[in-house]
Amino acid sequence: MSKTSKPNGWRPATIAIHGNGKRRKAYNAVSTPIVQTSNYSFESTSEVWDFMEAKAQGRIIREHEYGRYFNPTQQEVERKLAAIEGAERAITFSSGMSALILTVLAYVKKGGHVVFTSDCYRQTRDFANNWLTKFGIESTFADPSADAIEQAIRPNTNLIFTELPTNPFLRVVDLAAIVKVAKRHKLLTVVDPTLATPYNIRPLEMGVDIVVHSATKYLGGHNDLVAGVALGGHALLEDLNKLERMAGATPGPHTCFLLERGLKTFGLRMEHHNRAGLEVARFLEAHPKVEKVWYPGLKSHPDHRVAKKQMRGSGSVVSVRVKGNNKATCRFIDALELFLITPSLGGSESLVTQMAVMSFFDYTPEFRKALGITDNLVRLALGLEDVDDLIADLDQALGKV
Ligand code: PLP
Repeated sequence: MSKTSKPNGWRPATIAIHGNGKRRKAYNAVSTPIVQTSNYSFESTSEVWDFMEAKAQGRIIREHEYGRYFNPTQQEVERKLAAIEGAERAITFSSGMSALILTVLAYVKKGGHVVFTSDCYRQTRDFANNWLTKFGIESTFADPSADAIEQAIRPNTNLIFTELPTNPFLRVVDLAAIVKVAKRHKLLTVVDPTLATPYNIRPLEMGVDIVVHSATKYLGGHNDLVAGVALGGHALLEDLNKLERMAGATPGPHTCFLLERGLKTFGLRMEHHNRAGLEVARFLEAHPKVEKVWYPGLKSHPDHRVAKKQMRGSGSVVSVRVKGNNKATCRFIDALELFLITPSLGGSESLVTQMAVMSFFDYTPEFRKALGITDNLVRLALGLEDVDDLIADLDQALGKV
């Protein structure tokens, strides 16, 4: 895996601060100004004429026109996100889900079929099952392995979509193998590496076509914004850009400012998250009140070898089954002092989610069981607290199991 990003050889932590190099901003400001406006005026009718004529010919003589299309604060954070990911282009969205949904809608074919991987964010599954079906688009949820994905391909398949790692069991697909399968069948690959981030994996450099992230998580990093981003080649993303501008799934300027500010500590935060994840996972695996731990950095994880080959670190989401029933699991969660009970991950505060209740409550018990979502399955999303304090907190709370 390459740890550097083109074109200047800087690593992600440096690019997250400087982008691809020095840029003069409005008023020579060091931080990006928040341009809070819904529209941009023209000096005269002839300026409008020139603008429209240039636009019709595909030339850009000025970029700003209307807030639903984009704004300068957004453009600045898109430049930086593209540079961090090593992408030609980044398009930011109002949420990770709007990035993901519009990406699938922009590229799936009429009467098409999408292969998703089976362990995935609940809303992604619901989008496929409840909404894509309305347009006659079918989906298959395959085990996160190249063989299972290839077997799920049908004559009308044109997209493969996988998270990396998956949520909540942190499965790590072998990207090189998936890209080979996709090339063999002439399919587009879309990867959601929200849990890995461009700090830990570089899907575009491995041949993936499009990357989407929930920027709400590690990219924003502070549990204080909701945003998404899609990244890839300039020409390929043009259709998605058109769809986003039409739908107005653009993030507001204040969100873009917060996202760019969050990125300044991206490298520092990811170093901490990777270390915290591994230390806490090792602690939990050795704990007598823990039945099982899922963390790709552990040798016991089914995809440890693949994770080691293609990832720099495994992040800070650790899933565990505590030894006990629902009541015992609730006692553990309620006893935690440093973990807030809430969905999400990747921020400064540590979070805890009982998956059966918070994310999968309205599924039938049979379906939850089929997905492996038992009452004692708990997802921990470690924040930026001192790792020893987190371990001490987990230890005392496990004592209540
Ligand atoms: N992708 C993954 C892997 C997620 O975990 C989530 C949310 O938890 C999303 C996408 C959706 O992101 P957002 O909540 O920003 O819409």
